[in-house]
Amino acid sequence: MTRKTYSIFGAGAAGLYTAWRLLAGKATKAGQLKQLRKGDVLELYDWGRYDFSKRHRGTRAAGARICTWHYRNDPGQSFVELGGMRYSFWDQHPGKGAPDPNSGLAPGHRVVTKTIELLGLEKYSVPFNVTSDQLFYLRSRNFYLNDITSNNAAPYAANNFLSSTTPDQGFTTVQDLATTKPWDQFTRRDWCKFYQDGEITADLPSSSVFQKGDQLKDIGYWNLLYDQLGQEGFEYTADGNGYSSNVINTHAGVSFNINNEFTPGSQYRTLSIGYSGMFNALFDEIEKLAKAKGIEFRYHPDTRLHSILWKDGKAVFTYADRSDPNIAAGTREADAAWMAMPRAAIDLVAQATRFREPPKGAVDVLNHDKVQLYLEATIMQPSYKVGMFFDSPWWAPDAANPAPYPAQIIGYTITPEDIAALKKKKFPANALKAMATLVDVPYTSVADMVAAIENITEQPLGIAQTKALAAATRNDTIGPSVSNSPIRMVVYFGDNAPQPQKKPVYGILASYDDEDNTAFWRELELGPDRNRTIPWSQDTQPLDGPRAVPARMVKMLRRMLAELHFGPNADYSAVPEPLDAAYMDWSLPPFNAGYHEWAPHYDIGDVQRKIRKPSQLVGGGADADIFIVGEAYSNDQAWVEGAYCTAESVLNDFFGIVPIIDDCEYPFICPETSTV
Ligand SMILES: Cc1cc2nc3c(=O)[nH]c(=O)nc-3n(C[C@H](O)[C@H](O)[C@H](O)COP(=O)(O)OP(=O)(O)OC[C@H]3O[C@@H](n4cnc5c(N)ncnc54)[C@H](O)[C@@H]3O)c2cc1C
Repeated sequence: MTRKTYSIFGAGAAGLYTAWRLLAGKATKAGQLKQLRKGDVLELYDWGRYDFSKRHRGTRAAGARICTWHYRNDPGQSFVELGGMRYSFWDQHPGKGAPDPNSGLAPGHRVVTKTIELLGLEKYSVPFNVTSDQLFYLRSRNFYLNDITSNNAAPYAANNFLSSTTPDQGFTTVQDLATTKPWDQFTRRDWCKFYQDGEITADLPSSSVFQKGDQLKDIGYWNLLYDQLGQEGFEYTADGNGYSSNVINTHAGVSFNINNEFTPGSQYRTLSIGYSGMFNALFDEIEKLAKAKGIEFRYHPDTRLHSILWKDGKAVFTYADRSDPNIAAGTREADAAWMAMPRAAIDLVAQATRFREPPKGAVDVLNHDKVQLYLEATIMQPSYKVGMFFDSPWWAPDAANPAPYPAQIIGYTITPEDIAALKKKKFPANALKAMATLVDVPYTSVADMVAAIENITEQPLGIAQTKALAAATRNDTIGPSVSNSPIRMVVYFGDNAPQPQKKPVYGILASYDDEDNTAFWRELELGPDRNRTIPWSQDTQPLDGPRAVPARMVKMLRRMLAELHFGPNADYSAVPEPLDAAYMDWSLPPFNAGYHEWAPHYDIGDVQRKIRKPSQLVGGGADADIFIVGEAYSNDQAWVEGAYCTAESVLNDFFGIVPIIDDCEYPFICPETSTV
């Protein structure tokens, strides 16, 4: 029997997951021939070189669009996440809120949660809560979410008293145009159906551009927000939401779901070792499993997929060295190939063969008209993060000299580890039992948490017990604070050092912004007296790793942070000089986007199903084992969950691998049946 070669391009979430599941997954009888066997080859290519292990060092942390940045690059020190940072926890144990974890209604990212469990990382999983009383700095006014009333409206002349309520109300107003069953009764399948046939059900005045019966898939979300909220209402919703990418002209039906996702109720978690830790663990498992199974694992960092065609039953591809990434260095073949990369990176590969006839007998899958049409079904959303470390948490309400507008981040959450620790301290058994039902519920004060426990036990806790409870469960929130200045969101990580330090340092994302705001920072990246020497289109900074922030940019950031926390006229010096600062510019290649969102005027279920194996769109009997996986064309865009789910769906449907979890009510991509 000839040996098979499977080649994966992209060592981010989707690529690593594919390699892991090819090695660890169980196959159906029908899928046996497709499985890798002893002597076969599994290749993993990446344009970048990530820090996977002692043997495989890199220029930056693992995870591609995840990138944990530790102070002084020391894994024992505090860190901030300069890419993806959290997941929505799926509670796999039947409980009051979700009696059947596999039902369509149980919340959470199921594949990420399962992967974290299977990799043995559950011990590092910790709550990642958002504050319930956000600090805003909008149109030169500082205020808190809970202070917004009709007497103290936000500074926007929005219609229908919108500025007397929270900015998210704009999303709700628009969402109420489609009155179906309550949104919290929507299953994953229901959403897929809604993306295809959801429509406006409300009677709207004749002045509205959009009317009852209009399909949401044909409406741009920005168009709809403007139509319903007016310019001022739109700006309040857009500014107050923090993510500019949530209010651009995306598929309105999908945006309903995305903006629903940020409402309270989701339990976010992260890893206390940093989110990159999941990708180090995946890489370790791949190496271990390949060795145990006698499969040759070839890892090619610093190697770019340059072009790809299908010819004589094989993927024939050229590759290039990172040192000369535009010129092909050689040609290879594979029995199956995965492009585990986002839209812009795929387009760069397609460009290499776009303007010439393919050789006789070859199929240029990526440049086929319908494939191009479907590749453009997602909108690229550039984003930007700047991390800073300080020697004090000057933004906190309990700082030595608190700022006039501190971030309301103090919080408490009960975790199973807290319960175990308090049990050792002989905490009352009935209180511990009550706490087990309150795991992961975020509280803004000790009094609220104690009241919740006492409500169940009907017995008061003593002063010493309350103190011990407070100390064990304190888990500050991450904010975020929101501004309409180009810093947009500030996220507070604080002292989260995996190993206690003599001199703690405190981290923040001084800016988490996206869309047009990324361009504000780009011109500050170079500093004065410097001409650009690398064309923007060739600057692969996100592959190199976090880049130091020049002095002028630090000053601009301090000025905006000072306005947010100290008031509109505050001098930049109100914010101390950071110990260190670095940025990741996700508008740069090969990503050109932090995340993606579906465009209107597409049947996105069809795109999800076909683009996974683009030859399905070519016709004429073309059947090429070239696959596209990753967040960009997924049902969970902007999340690692989307990358894992598309990868899982390809392995289940084309390689006979048994699904990693019960997927009856959790289809990994939109299924055919949900659109009929
Ligand atoms: C600022 C920001 C915040 C986010 N927040 C969250 C969050 O909180 N939670 C969450 O779950 N997700 C979050 N995300 C999204 C999440 O990071 C992505 O969905 C996920 O990492 C995408 O994985 P992927 O495998 O699809 O693609 P990528 O991570 O983009 O991996 C693609 C890989 O392909 C490689 N590549 C590209 N071109 C080539 C080529 N020609 N040849 C070889 N290799 C190539 C790249 O180097 C890269 O390693 C965030 C992302 C950003 C940027």
